Amino acid sequence: MPNILVNRQTLAVSLLVISLAGPMTAGETAGKTLDPSYQIAVELGPYAQAADAADGAHAISWDGSDPARMNASTEAFAAQELRHYLSKLTKASEEDPQVFPVVAVKRSRSHKAIILANLSEKSHQPDVSRAAQREKLAQRLSARESFALVPDDDNLLIIGSDRVGVLYGVYSLLQMLGVRWYAPGNMGEVIHESASLQLPGQTIIQSPKFLTRGFLAWENRGNHDFYLWMARNRLNLWTIADTDRASEKQLGLQLNGGLHWIFERYLNPATYMQAHPEWYGLVNGKRQGFKADMGTNFCTSNPAAVHQFIQNLVADFSTGDWRDTDLLELWPLDGGTWCECDNCNRLGTPTDRLLTLVMQVRDALEDTRRKGLIHHPVEVVFPIYHETLSLPSNPQWMAADFKNLIGTFFPIGRCYIHYLDDPNCTEYNTDYWATFETWRKHPDKYPGQFEIGEYYSVSTTKSLPVLYTRIMAHDLPLFYANGVRHFHYMHVSTRLQGPKRLNNYLLAQLLWNPDADVEQLFSEYLNDFYGAGAGDARRFYDRLEFATSSIQQWKHYGGEHAGQLQSLVDQINRDADNLFDTEHLKLEEYHPAKNAGVSLGESVRALQECRAIMNRLRAKELPGEVKLRLAEDDRNLRYAENTVNLYYYLAQALMARKQQKLEQAKEFYRLTVPFAQGLREETGIVQTASSHANAKDGLDASLVEKTYEELGKQLGVASK
Ligand SMILES: [Zn+2]
Ligand SMILES: [Zn+2]
Repeated sequence: MPNILVNRQTLAVSLLVISLAGPMTAGETAGKTLDPSYQIAVELGPYAQAADAADGAHAISWDGSDPARMNASTEAFAAQELRHYLSKLTKASEEDPQVFPVVAVKRSRSHKAIILANLSEKSHQPDVSRAAQREKLAQRLSARESFALVPDDDNLLIIGSDRVGVLYGVYSLLQMLGVRWYAPGNMGEVIHESASLQLPGQTIIQSPKFLTRGFLAWENRGNHDFYLWMARNRLNLWTIADTDRASEKQLGLQLNGGLHWIFERYLNPATYMQAHPEWYGLVNGKRQGFKADMGTNFCTSNPAAVHQFIQNLVADFSTGDWRDTDLLELWPLDGGTWCECDNCNRLGTPTDRLLTLVMQVRDALEDTRRKGLIHHPVEVVFPIYHETLSLPSNPQWMAADFKNLIGTFFPIGRCYIHYLDDPNCTEYNTDYWATFETWRKHPDKYPGQFEIGEYYSVSTTKSLPVLYTRIMAHDLPLFYANGVRHFHYMHVSTRLQGPKRLNNYLLAQLLWNPDADVEQLFSEYLNDFYGAGAGDARRFYDRLEFATSSIQQWKHYGGEHAGQLQSLVDQINRDADNLFDTEHLKLEEYHPAKNAGVSLGESVRALQECRAIMNRLRAKELPGEVKLRLAEDDRNLRYAENTVNLYYYLAQALMARKQQKLEQAKEFYRLTVPFAQGLREETGIVQTASSHANAKDGLDASLVEKTYEELGKQLGVASK
């Protein structure tokens, strides 16, 4: 069922339109025709002018204590965005104040206006109140960030359940009229030539299917173009670590904080351990501290330790630097050991201990909120990851206790050749899917919400142009059908995305609506982005996705349960006798009944085809903006070609040396040299993600630099 509801008499027509063209196109549903005399009316709260409200975000407290200013800021910004793009669509000049004038709601005239309204406000203009009653919006806009587009004589009302719903209503209208934001910045923007200027002819209601939609980040590393692109595509998760919090809040982003460093932030051994050694974990009879995200977790059965931890945390979330934080990521240390004291052992497994702490923290945050010291909801998120993959064994809570709690399942060692639930991926995925199903099928043990933390750019990927469109088209609806309502992946590249932009664009559309038609979105993207080159570009994307699908097998460890599977680079670096010891990854084509993957040789040849297509595309007469996009794509492709060819020939050089065929080893080694040199020259793409996922240059990012250099010395062949 698409997440677009319409009033009854028009249901059949709208469903038809949705199935043909995603959100909506003109045609049967078209209403009044827009012209630049339309006013844009917006509630300005305490502000006199829309510009004051839209531009004053940095002067507002965004902790929820001043909703009138927060609302006016986001809604006035939404009005500005609407004016900007309606002017573009109608080719009218934004310089002319008569073009789509933005006015305060109370000064708007009664006809030919687009009126923005927020249902969470106490009072509304009469048109809005009447429409809200007629369309039963109080019930139908119960989900946060939802909105209704309601035609009302010559007017259109954009009514959000909250300020972000208003903003999303504006962006969705613009999308219906023919505006696309495929990537951050001007290069990613497309306005359809055949754009319709007709407003919807009947009420349209939308609400998000996934509630948390975006990227897991914990460093100050974004940029304004990227945040704008996120908001325009209705993505809503970023990090409190970013310094431009006001802009992010204005754009409706939810900010998270915590992760593996949360224990250090609120119970740092450097501060407390000398006076209170008993607060810290007991291992082999000795109290142990931790540093940053590594070491022994604190003694979570010690009431005084827990009290101090919670006191510091609550102070930070009420009056401290993190008072704007929406999601607390309450994670233990990364692969940390757990306290061995009797009281901790009585608490149970690491999952039981973590959940006990999570519940205490969640309750303290709720108490503080009830006292009026925290002004917005805070959700507490815990990881289902490594030592907390097992179900809670003996939960002492009732289902009603699991409010504002989210468990994030992290399949870090999964395979991206196969879907997460593919029964043929027994080396990597089947254990993960079984673990997730265990949680999902035991609401008696855990009745809380689920999130998936994906690895579409796991640290070792180092921003290679890996495509996940086939995986996302299957897995995201699968996750939704299995009760998942929150989703992120970590280490997104915020610049120089090249073909990776398609992952992010499709992700945004599928998180809003997992029933979205991926083929239709893909076709539209190709036509919009590459024009006359769309046919070639389709083949390019298809081959690139195939060529890069063994990313996990090349660079990251696999599996969590059946013993860790080594990646190709690990095998290369430890000089293993068999570099290709999984069924998934062989040097050349191999088709086992289960665990069939994509060989290194197949990847090399698919990238050769990508290269031929890219060269053909770049020689074509195409518009300037298409050439710019192709240049970015080409640079990403070059990075992938150099990486994969380096692996292909280095692996064969190592195998020849192992067999004492030194001349052959030298020959293979010489073949690697130009690829390694190309990688040394790539210093941009490898700096676009988080510090964990970045590298000095492409050769550093290959993770085999040291082995490569040493082999050159041993064979007496120059490495550059
Ligand atoms: Zn303990
Ligand atoms: Zn697989």
